[in-house]
Amino acid sequence: MKLPYGEDTLREMELWPFIELQQRSRLPPVAPLTGVDAPPPARPALPPRSSAAVAPSPAPADPARGTRIAQLDWPGLTAESAACQACGLCRQRKQAVLGVGATDAPWLFVGEGPGSEEDEQGEPFVGPAGKLLDAMLAAAGLQRGREVYIANVVKCRPPGNRTPSADEALACAPFLDRQIDLIQPKLIVALGKTALTRLTGSEASMGSMRGRRHDYRGIPVVATYHPAYLLRNLPEKLKAWEDLMLAKKTLAAL
Ligand code: URA
Repeated sequence: MKLPYGEDTLREMELWPFIELQQRSRLPPVAPLTGVDAPPPARPALPPRSSAAVAPSPAPADPARGTRIAQLDWPGLTAESAACQACGLCRQRKQAVLGVGATDAPWLFVGEGPGSEEDEQGEPFVGPAGKLLDAMLAAAGLQRGREVYIANVVKCRPPGNRTPSADEALACAPFLDRQIDLIQPKLIVALGKTALTRLTGSEASMGSMRGRRHDYRGIPVVATYHPAYLLRNLPEKLKAWEDLMLAKKTLAAL
């Protein structure tokens, strides 16, 4: 059986069963992408920070707070998020979970919000969804902590792991905006609809938004399913794989 992708990368995401299913049912094959398994090209210098990147994207509930957070450095962001009481999520958190990874990473992955294990450990995506995210990163030739920064739309755990409300996402927006401004990633991967809506302002479904490039202040955004959703809908992993390949291709073409 001739496969369009390298065996190792497909095994990382446990995609073999779905590729086999696809071939057996004679579904149209996933188009191979050239250069996908090649080592990443040397990274060009990051563009200078523009003044437009200082203002938070949604209209801030408290403009003074937004302006202040937009000027913080990393230690300032950590301290500010740890003390934040801008929404009700602060009441039940054990700690705020700002993010993890290289602060000059070309790749930024944005999830929804910390779960119980993340709330406990203070690091995003360390629970079951995080294990799958790590496998997705490995399948794309990436590794947590190297070339990748991982953050969430909200920094405090929504009780019961519910989806954060629009108000909660808005209250937390200055933190993610400032993180992006400091990191200046080359590309952002939106993991799930909450991240996609926050980054693009669109309420459209993931199904209609994935497969093409979007934009956050000039930075390309590629949308894919949230790892927790993929754990419940295993065949969708193949689409997530395609999305990662689109992200790689997009970044390589920059
Ligand atoms: N789900 C998320 O969206 N983020 C995490 O950090 C963990 C689970």
